[in-house]
Amino acid sequence: MRASTYPLVDADEAAALVLDRTPVLPKERVAIGEAVGRVLAADISAPAELPAFATSAVDGFALRASDAGETLRVIGESAAGRPFAGGVERGTAARILTGGVLPAGADTVVMVEDVHLAGEAVTIPRDLRAGSNFHRPGADVKAGEVVLKAGAQLGAAELGLVAALGFAEVEVYRRPRVALLSTGDELVEVGRTPGPGQITDSNRWALLAALREAGVDVRILGIGPDEPLALRGLVVDALDAADVLVTSGGVSVGTHDLVKPLLESLGTVHIGRVKLKPGKPFTFATLPAGKLAFGLPGFPVSSLVTFEVFVRPSLRKMQGFARLQRPTLPVRLGYDARATADRTEYQRVTLRREGAELVAETTGSQSSSRLLSLAGAHALVRIAPVDGGVKAGTIVDAMILALP
Ligand code: AMP
Ligand code: MG
Repeated sequence: MRASTYPLVDADEAAALVLDRTPVLPKERVAIGEAVGRVLAADISAPAELPAFATSAVDGFALRASDAGETLRVIGESAAGRPFAGGVERGTAARILTGGVLPAGADTVVMVEDVHLAGEAVTIPRDLRAGSNFHRPGADVKAGEVVLKAGAQLGAAELGLVAALGFAEVEVYRRPRVALLSTGDELVEVGRTPGPGQITDSNRWALLAALREAGVDVRILGIGPDEPLALRGLVVDALDAADVLVTSGGVSVGTHDLVKPLLESLGTVHIGRVKLKPGKPFTFATLPAGKLAFGLPGFPVSSLVTFEVFVRPSLRKMQGFARLQRPTLPVRLGYDARATADRTEYQRVTLRREGAELVAETTGSQSSSRLLSLAGAHALVRIAPVDGGVKAGTIVDAMILALP
């Protein structure tokens, strides 16, 4: 064993440094069907107004409000996609269906439920207001209006809007390609029975899920051995096709911890230790051609917490997201939180509503190997390194993973 030569970097400074060194990936045009979940690389302005013409909101009759109380002659029909070619004049009405174009001359639509129909004669109510029951042109979107900003993620409503405006392609940021490697001679593939001293590689699957949620393409490299040359070969090959390398394990100061020296030999290690619990050995390096490497600690909870704090915001920056961080909310601690002397602690909690407040309860033992402290957790609460810890009842910041 040797003492680490890397300075302990403040967790917030480390997070800022990572973001500072993170490039935004190039833009690309993709078909709308490929754009689900992607991030817009350019503002989208409406080329024309929506709706493009006045359309009925109901099934009924299009007429002139000044004919209120009269019996009108039905002279035609306007259905969705089949406009009425004629016009509505005094004493006449056109049958209209939802989505049908409001005929020329009509200024209101009366619902079919509100009229009395006898053959081709329709009697309409006495109190009518012009402008009822139809959508005006431009009521939803004005021509030239910026409807979506660069940095917005294309979810259901956004893609619907893009399509409604007629764009079959959109400009988005390229997705990061991430190579994912688990390191450690003790690891075996999931499903195999571990031999003496062996454990199942669980980080791969946990990190795969975290990476997918962060919106990236993942290439699984599998298990890398605790052997410098073999490890180097695996990583060098993978970096050809990857923007980012994410490893787990092999970053502490034991003699078999080879990731830091490997990253030193390939690029520049900017962070080798952070004042964070769990996750002190978190390692970050930049590599040639704008690539990034994250050496996450091996303990399962440490790898996922450092992923949340450092990697996810970086991957979001690469993809052009306007918002990089998870939402943060003030919550009331429901338990006495012990603090760690020299490190900010991210404790895993569940949340419950109490009136207008959210109250945080610990998920139990916060051991960095205990994934049950994170499974089902709603938030990570930040416990600063203060003497005596933080007492129940105190308001602290929580990084929200899911709401109760
Ligand atoms: P290391 O950082 O390599 O010293 O690993 C720290 C601890 O995390 C050890 O107990 C490892 O067995 C464990 N660990 C490392 N990699 C994994 C993995 N892929 N899945 C589950 N546990 C792991
Ligand atoms: Mg190891």
